[in-house]
Amino acid sequence: MLGAGAAGLAAARDLSHAGLRVTVIEARPRIGGRVLTVHDPRSPVPIELGAEFIHGEAAETLSLAQAAGLAVVELPDTHELARAGRLKPMGDFWGLVDRMNRDLARRVASRGRDFPVSEYLESASVPASRRGLLRDFLQGFYAAHPDRLSAESLAVETVGGDERDEVAGKQFRIANGGDALMKWLRDGLDPDRTEVRLSTVAESVRWKRGAVSVTCRGGDRAPLPAVSARAAVITLPLAVLKAGVVRFDPALPAKQRALARIETGQVFKIVLRFREAFWQGVEFLKERRERSASNGGLGGLTFLHAQGAEVPTWWTSLPVRSPLLTGYVGAVRAEELLAEEPPSRLERTLVALSDILAVPRRELEEQLDASATHDWRADPFARGAYSYIGVGGNDAPRALARPVEGTLFFAGEATSGAEIGTVAGALSSGRRAAREVLRVLK
Ligand SMILES: Cc1cc2nc3c(=O)[nH]c(=O)nc-3n(C[C@H](O)[C@H](O)[C@H](O)COP(=O)(O)OP(=O)(O)OC[C@H]3O[C@@H](n4cnc5c(N)ncnc54)[C@H](O)[C@@H]3O)c2cc1C
Repeated sequence: MLGAGAAGLAAARDLSHAGLRVTVIEARPRIGGRVLTVHDPRSPVPIELGAEFIHGEAAETLSLAQAAGLAVVELPDTHELARAGRLKPMGDFWGLVDRMNRDLARRVASRGRDFPVSEYLESASVPASRRGLLRDFLQGFYAAHPDRLSAESLAVETVGGDERDEVAGKQFRIANGGDALMKWLRDGLDPDRTEVRLSTVAESVRWKRGAVSVTCRGGDRAPLPAVSARAAVITLPLAVLKAGVVRFDPALPAKQRALARIETGQVFKIVLRFREAFWQGVEFLKERRERSASNGGLGGLTFLHAQGAEVPTWWTSLPVRSPLLTGYVGAVRAEELLAEEPPSRLERTLVALSDILAVPRRELEEQLDASATHDWRADPFARGAYSYIGVGGNDAPRALARPVEGTLFFAGEATSGAEIGTVAGALSSGRRAAREVLRVLK
């Protein structure tokens, strides 16, 4: 097993339960991959620097979290538009997204081919008022450049039913921290049949039908013994596979073609801890929220969307109250911010937040206790945040997932079509790969 992220752990668990011997090779000194939870005694809630939300459709993650006995909280579905200190309810945010996906499905069907989502956004049928909002959503949620994002890949989400999935708009969070789910998966590995080798970087995979040998080095670059097995499950992140830093011998040209049609999304996510949650103050909200009927019963701030801002998406820790605010931006603006030095990223984040909430920057700085972020693009074992499907690439995750000669098996979020880019996709891909291995080896 290459990689001890969500996909690798889920696959290893099923394989070890089925009685196979499994060696998990993990480059980092920790498990979890792009689930990275920080437990800081000064923070009242866990800080998620990678994955955070369970999106409503992700039944598999919810049921695993339930089996693990974890506390899952549902987030208030309150989205507000923020501009220069004025807050306006967005209404049915997910309804807007759903409408876009349905329009895309119709257009893909009538054109008979895929096209970049940017063509749809620029078309006359999308009102200007919605264009910026949808562009921000696609860049934030999918970390996607709209001019590279496949229309067909979004359109398929609505295929199979006109009715919106009842839980589609819902979002959940594991109150214990996402790492608790990763730890539960690892603790479930049969110790007699499973070995997890941390700080072990795979360098090459030499294979022939029925035999694999993986050469490795340690975190200090010292060579480590090769791992041999009858089969290997590869759960390396898309961008690591694309970079070619793990060599396959013989090479895998069909996988190269699939990789070329899946895109790596970049994200800048930053968690700010303030001395107090001033944004939840009654006076603070009264001054900023429009007085209108639709504001009745909004409760505290949950999600803020500031169209065009350098860091346009913000959320609080509701339903748990805490002095944490998280800023999020994907794709183009994330790449611009990640090109800056870390102090400048924080500075620009505070400037954006100051504009959005109409709180002087000096005041924000005085209130700020600490900030935390992780640069996934610069991380050699991720090289990016998460994947999305490029134009014409709708079948590429399936092609990437396809086993090779009953010997190499592939899992990871990028191999999951409908749930690409998510923990849910990673988990279900790991379980799918385990079933494929068992069909061959058992
Ligand atoms: C900032 C951010 C926010 C996110 N938010 C969400 C969210 O809210 N909800 C959601 O569902 N998803 C979210 N995601 C996506 C989610 O984190 C991923 O889709 C998921 O965790 C991927 O799991 P995986 O097992 O496919 O890959 P990974 O978790 O990346 O696992 C792959 C493993 O391979 C290891 N590895 C890499 N190279 C080597 C090597 N050479 N040798 C050995 N091991 C190697 C890595 O260290 C890693 O542990 C977010 C991601 C990021 C970065």
